[in-house]
Amino acid sequence: ALTDKLSRLVKDLRGQGRITESNVTDMLREVRMALLEADVALPVVRDFIARVKDKALGQEVLGSLQPGQVLVSIVNRELAATMGEGVSDINLAAQPPAVILMAGLQGAGKTTTTAKLAKHLIEKRKKKVLTVSGDVYRPAAIEQLKTVTAQAGAEWFPSTPDQNPVDIGRAALDYAKKHFFDVLLVDTAGRLAIDEALMLEIKNLHAVLNPVETLFVVDAMQGQDAVNTAKAFKEALPLTGIILTKTDGDSRGGAALSVRQITGAPIKFAGTSEKLDGLEVFDAERHAGRILGMGDIVALVEQVTAGVDIEAAKKLADKVKSGGGFDLNDFLAQIQQMKQMGGLSSLMDKLPAAMAAKAGQVDMDKAERDIKRKEGIIHSMTPLERRKPDLIKATRKRRIAAGAGVHVQEVNRMLKEFEQMQDMMKKMKGGGMMKMMKRLGG
Ligand code: GDP
Ligand code: MG
Repeated sequence: ALTDKLSRLVKDLRGQGRITESNVTDMLREVRMALLEADVALPVVRDFIARVKDKALGQEVLGSLQPGQVLVSIVNRELAATMGEGVSDINLAAQPPAVILMAGLQGAGKTTTTAKLAKHLIEKRKKKVLTVSGDVYRPAAIEQLKTVTAQAGAEWFPSTPDQNPVDIGRAALDYAKKHFFDVLLVDTAGRLAIDEALMLEIKNLHAVLNPVETLFVVDAMQGQDAVNTAKAFKEALPLTGIILTKTDGDSRGGAALSVRQITGAPIKFAGTSEKLDGLEVFDAERHAGRILGMGDIVALVEQVTAGVDIEAAKKLADKVKSGGGFDLNDFLAQIQQMKQMGGLSSLMDKLPAAMAAKAGQVDMDKAERDIKRKEGIIHSMTPLERRKPDLIKATRKRRIAAGAGVHVQEVNRMLKEFEQMQDMMKKMKGGGMMKMMKRLGG
């Protein structure tokens, strides 16, 4: 949808050489909508839009670019810069054991992330890691940490529900010192911001442990409320980093921007699955595209306009328009252009989140192999057959299949696909997609 909006706006702004107060307003309205739809909190959106407007005003629009494109790229860059600032791995610069305190709401993913971090620190940084649970309110939570710690290959320090979290922290720290652990990961009970007693408890725990990292674990699917939660945790604790969990869900993850802006702490990692290897260094650029709901549309546009031979596209469009028909040579040209653009998977990487999620269900390697086979089939046809696919009946099909080293069914399938494409081309009367790309590419 944003692609449509973008092209509409780009059309409206065509021929304006500069971003001005008057032409920027509509565009910013769209950006604002996109941010709100991604669940970025309202005050954060306001702030962000003001910053973007500042940067955009008076910005000259160079070369073949349009104001719309320039603004989108400013928004994208600003989003990525804001969220990506200060990104770094876990800080362990402390007299061992380096203590890492996990904070956040119930269900945010603290326990899971504790084990993910343990695994990361063991495997990537060769550390000796101890975990402990201060979640004394739910016996199952302590057991849960025990289980996932074992899966991560770390050691678990026992605690029980009748203990005080501060005592647990102290005992675990002692043990970690005596046994030369490099890192102590302290999982805590999920708390609601409004629960002052629990907030006080984690503050006390912080005071005793003096952690080198105090990580705020937040669910990427959290909506507008992320601001209040983040505020309360920032007031209670000197947060040193954020971990954004459940980025594999289908939310657009606007919480990342809200929480980054409110706490000022860098987003260090993103949780990408329930499994313990589902932890990745936070990729601000990718996440910016996701929030805007358009993947890296700027890069996509550039890639596509670079890859598509505009002249060839125009010729094809004219040919279709004049009733010249879309033949197998054109089909082959399209397949080859797809390859020129850097392959399917690189293209899919840049698609909007929702589309990419769908695309993720497709096996990309297989899809690329598929393209090569289709190419092979068309190459086994005579020039006449390519121009007049109607001629291709049983005998020719067998010959073509043999030539390409595939089954006849595969030739059939490809011809069917070609027919569908031909139909689509007829309907598009000159290729709406090509037109849009030409417009964007100038
Ligand atoms: P806690 O209450 O903060 O300790 O949260 P948990 O670690 O128990 O996680 C709550 C739920 O979220 C569990 O079902 C986890 O498997 C799930 N979870 C945590 N992180 C992720 C993630 O990055 N992706 C997905 N899909 N699920 C996650
Ligand atoms: Mg937990």
